[in-house]
Amino acid sequence: MGKIEMTTPLVEMDGDEMTRILWKMIKDELLLPYIDLKTEYYDLGLEYRNETNDKVTHDSAEATKKYGVAVKCATITPNAARMTEYNLKEMWKSPNGTIRAALDGTVFRTPIIVKGIEPCVKNWEKPITLARHAYGDVYKNSEIKVPGAGKAELVFTAKDGTEIRETIHEFTGAGIIQGIHNTDESITSFAKACFNYALDTKQDLWFATKDTISKKYDHNFKDIFQDIYEKEYDDKFKAAGIEYFYTLIDDAVARVMKAKGGFIWACKNYDGDVMSDMVSSAFGSLAMMTSVLVSPSGVYEYEAAHGTVQRHYYKHLKGEETSTNSVATIFAWTGALRKRGELDGNEELMQFADRLEKATVQTIEGGKMTKDLALITSLKDVTVLNSEDFIKAIRETFDRL
Ligand code: NAP
Ligand code: MG
Repeated sequence: MGKIEMTTPLVEMDGDEMTRILWKMIKDELLLPYIDLKTEYYDLGLEYRNETNDKVTHDSAEATKKYGVAVKCATITPNAARMTEYNLKEMWKSPNGTIRAALDGTVFRTPIIVKGIEPCVKNWEKPITLARHAYGDVYKNSEIKVPGAGKAELVFTAKDGTEIRETIHEFTGAGIIQGIHNTDESITSFAKACFNYALDTKQDLWFATKDTISKKYDHNFKDIFQDIYEKEYDDKFKAAGIEYFYTLIDDAVARVMKAKGGFIWACKNYDGDVMSDMVSSAFGSLAMMTSVLVSPSGVYEYEAAHGTVQRHYYKHLKGEETSTNSVATIFAWTGALRKRGELDGNEELMQFADRLEKATVQTIEGGKMTKDLALITSLKDVTVLNSEDFIKAIRETFDRL
């Protein structure tokens, strides 16, 4: 049988440490034997980012805009320790942050469900996808520690000098104040990315804020979502048989715990920070969590939600055996290949992605897995495989399907 042809390249963003090792194994064992793989390759490994003064990251984001679909390996976000370890010229910014800013994108995280790795919440049968607004609010705040009695005011000065003034509080003693903001532009991008992704994946979309208490700030989020929904998405949602559902954040939390899953939960920045950790840990493992960055114009970048698994990499460097889970990275590839297939009308490529995902899930359900999953599975008598043998086991399952 010939290899599957591709018409448009995928943007391939290579990365760091253990995930870079897995990246090559996945390509060699699971992709290159079956696909005439076309990619435009960008090396986002820290060494090359440093060599190019991080230009390579910006270039990869531009290429993503051009081609529409990218797949990314986990990358190191430099800190003080990495400055010395890699002898860096500068503490380069997080590539994910750079790419997200360039694409004006929203990140959607979805757990991969397999039998034998059960979520802590018994009634969650299907994945819950979490969308976090990644701009503003408390993450871009200004704070003052109030020393003593005095008046705190909120002042907006327009370009022409006119002021809007609101008293926050008349302090009689020490206290604290905080100023936060968001922009209609950013909320609009977030809303559009959420509506598009819901249509794309044919899932209901939930959005929640605390608009009963925050009658201007949170209400503005609710209004923008509602307005865009009515103007641009109502008909499309009805045609797709899906729903947009707004409620209060506390009500949403209560409903999520009782739900079966199978929907997208859009959250404001802070809610998304907190809830994504709750949802992902309740589903079992960070190594089983996929992530896709979606821009309001419909550009996609797929990756694993976890990092470069540094501890395993150092073991690997010492020549010790590792048992690192490659599932989320494999699903980043299948997500990107399926989307590429969809955009190019390449049925074979889409079927390949489905089959590789099925083979991955079946391998685990058949009792072959990496150590992280063996520690939490409800399956009996499982075989713990090393990083490479796990990928080879998936290939065997794939060839049998
Ligand atoms: P991490 O790479 O996610 O790993 C943390 C721990 O989680 C690992 O030590 C391992 O636990 C477990 N783990 C995560 N992924 C696993 C997998 N695929 N298979 C098996 N176990 C897995 O986070 P980190 O160690 O805090 O960060 C390492 C580097 O990744 C940092 O430089 C950070 O900047 C970067 N990072 C990048 C991204 C990204 O590119 N999207 C995201 C997060 C972090 P055990 O050690 O107990 O086995
Ligand atoms: Mg967090």
